[in-house]
Amino acid sequence: MESEKKEFQAESKRLLDLMINSIYTNQEIFLREIISNASDAIDKLAYLALTDQNVGLNRDDFCIWLKADPKYRLLTVSDNGIGMSKEEMEQNLGTIAKSGSLQFKKELDENADVDIIGQFGVGFYSAFMVSEAVTVISKKYGSDEAWMWQSSGADGYTMTPCEKETPGTDVIMKLKADTEDEKYERFLKTYELRNLVKKCSDYIRYPIKMDVETQKMKEQPEPKEGEEAPKPEYETVIETETFNSMVPLWQRNKKEITAEEYNQFYKDKFYDFEAPLATIHISVEGNVTYKAMLFIPSRTPYDYYTKEYKKGLQLYSSGVLIMENCADLLPEHFRFVKGVVDSQDLSLHIPREMLQHDRQPKIIAANLEKKIKAELVKMLTNDREKYEKFFAAFGRQLKYGVVQDYGMHKDLLQELLLFWSSKENKLVTLKEYVDAMPEEQKYIYYATGESRSRLSQLPQAETVRDKGYDILFFTEDVDEFIPQTLMKFQEKEFRNVNMEDLGLETDEEKKQAEENQENEKDVLDFVKETLGDKVKEVRISHTLRSHPVCLVPDAGMSFEMEKYMKRVNPEFSYETGRILELNASHPAFAALKTAMAEDKEKAERYAKLLYSQAMLIADLPLDNPTDYTDLVCSLMK
Ligand code: ADP
Repeated sequence: MESEKKEFQAESKRLLDLMINSIYTNQEIFLREIISNASDAIDKLAYLALTDQNVGLNRDDFCIWLKADPKYRLLTVSDNGIGMSKEEMEQNLGTIAKSGSLQFKKELDENADVDIIGQFGVGFYSAFMVSEAVTVISKKYGSDEAWMWQSSGADGYTMTPCEKETPGTDVIMKLKADTEDEKYERFLKTYELRNLVKKCSDYIRYPIKMDVETQKMKEQPEPKEGEEAPKPEYETVIETETFNSMVPLWQRNKKEITAEEYNQFYKDKFYDFEAPLATIHISVEGNVTYKAMLFIPSRTPYDYYTKEYKKGLQLYSSGVLIMENCADLLPEHFRFVKGVVDSQDLSLHIPREMLQHDRQPKIIAANLEKKIKAELVKMLTNDREKYEKFFAAFGRQLKYGVVQDYGMHKDLLQELLLFWSSKENKLVTLKEYVDAMPEEQKYIYYATGESRSRLSQLPQAETVRDKGYDILFFTEDVDEFIPQTLMKFQEKEFRNVNMEDLGLETDEEKKQAEENQENEKDVLDFVKETLGDKVKEVRISHTLRSHPVCLVPDAGMSFEMEKYMKRVNPEFSYETGRILELNASHPAFAALKTAMAEDKEKAERYAKLLYSQAMLIADLPLDNPTDYTDLVCSLMK
C-alpha cells in the first residue's frame, strides 16, 4: 500500500514551526514529554487489563523502552500501552488538543517568545526541537493493523500501513545534526539519558528500561595454592537497566520534595502553565490509609464556570490509576482543587457506582475537605496577598458554596469570604468587619450594586457613613444571597442600606421624622398623585443627608435582586414596589413646595424629575429617556 500525504492543521503547523526553529535552552524536556505520553498510554491499557481478563497482561508486563542508535542518530521511545489507530494518530498527532497547548497558542499571538515553551507541556511536538524527522509506529490494542506516521516538519506528514507485532507505540526520533552550540548527539548517550530520566521522569510508575553496555570482570578460576592471582580481565556485557525509581511523587517523603518538583508535577499533570498557589501533601494512616497531593491553581480555568469543567481528583489504588476524575472526593465548593489520591484500601475493580456506596471514599472526602479548608485559612492568615489572588480566582465559588444546599456549608465557609470594605478601601473578612465595629454599631451594613464606584455614590449610604460605620459593597450576583443565608455573623445581623430600617435614629430623630411626614402630607400626596402607579408610596426620608431623593424597595426583594432575577430569567415579571423618599431639608424640596403654590404644572414636572433622578441613582432603567431629557430641557427655560 502507498503512503498518504497529509497537511497539518494550521495551528499545529505554527506550533511545529516554532519547535523546529526553537532556540530554547531546555530542549531536553522533549524526553519527559514523550515518556509521559507513553506512560499515559500504558495507564489506559493497564486499566483495561484490570477490568477485562482478555487483555492477559498484568502490571509487571508494562514498560517503556529507550533505544539509542548512534550510527543513524536515532533515539526510540517504545511503550506497550494502548496504541493508536490510524484515525487516532492523525487526530492526536496532527492537531493540538490539550488545553495547555491551546493556551500556549493564545499566548503566542501576543508574545512570540520562545522561552515560554518551558512553561507549557507542549507534548509530542517537542520532539521536533531535537529531531529533524519523527516516525511514530503504533498498533492499537485489539486491532490487527499497524500504522506509521512520519514527518520531517511543518510541511506535513505521511501515513503508511506497516507491520508491528504487539500493541503499543514506538516514537523514533532522528536527531538533528550537531551545531557549534547544540550537541544533539548527547541524547544518544546512556549516561545522559539515565540522568534525564532520573531528573524529569523518575516518578513514572512503569519501568523505563534501556539495554546498556557495562564492563564486567570475567570470572576466572580460583588460583591454586602458591600461584599468583591472575590479572583481572574485563568484558563488555549488555544488561537491561531500569533508570527510574518508579516512586510516584506523592509516595515520597514531603521533606525530600522540592517546590520545583511539586510545581512541575502539577503543570505536567493538570496542563497548567502557572505554578499552583498552594500544594497540600497528605499522608494518612488509620481507618483508611491513603496519600493525597492536592493543588490550588493560581487562576480560574477558562471553562471553570461552564458545564465543560469537570471537578474531581485522580484516584489511584496502590499506584494504579483507577479513575481519572473521581468527583465524589471533592465537595462542590472546593471543585477548583486538582490532585491525586492514592489508597491501598480501595479495591482495584471498583466500578463507578460501587465507589459511590463505599465508605472509604466518603471518609477520604471528608478528610480532604478539612485539609483544604485548613490550607485556605493558613493562607488567609499568613499570606494575605496570595489569598486575595486565590479569592479573585475562586472567591465566587466559595460564595456559591455558602448559599448552596440551603446553607449547609456556611459554617465551614463563612470565615473564608472577603468583601469590599468601603471604609478601609480593601477586602476584609466578616470577622475583620465585626472586630472593627464601634461598640454602639448594631448591624453589619452592606450595599448591593453594579460597581464599587456606583455604590460609593449611593445617597442612602450617607447616614451610615456619617456615623463612621463601614459598609460592605456587594457587587456580585451571589453576594446578596449571603446575608439571607448567614442571617447573622458573630451575633450581628446584616442590614442592607438601600432597603431596610438602618436602626440608626435616636428617639428624637424618629419623632422629628414622624412630624415631618405629617407636616408635609400635602406635598407627598401631590407627588404620589402626579406619579400614579409608578410608585407605591411617597414619603419623607430618614436617611438622606445631602441628596434630594432616593428610591427604596418595598419589603421583600431588593432592586439588585430584581435585576438579577430578570437577567437569569427573562420571563420573570415581578417588580418590587418602588418607594420614593424625599429629603425634606433639601433645597429641591423647598423648590417643589414653592412651585406647588405658584405653578402647579411646573410642580408636576419637578415631581417627575425627582422620580427620574431616583430611578437613575438606583440604576433602574427610565421608562422613557427621551421624555426625561425633554423634561430637563423644559425646566432650563
Ligand atoms: P497530550 O499528551 O498532552 O494530550 P501530546 O501532543 O503529547 O498531548 O499528545 C497528543 C495525544 O497523542 C495524546 O493525548 C495521546 O492520545 C496521543 N499519544 C501520544 N503519544 C502516545 C503514545 N505513546 N501512545 C498512545 N497515544 C499517544
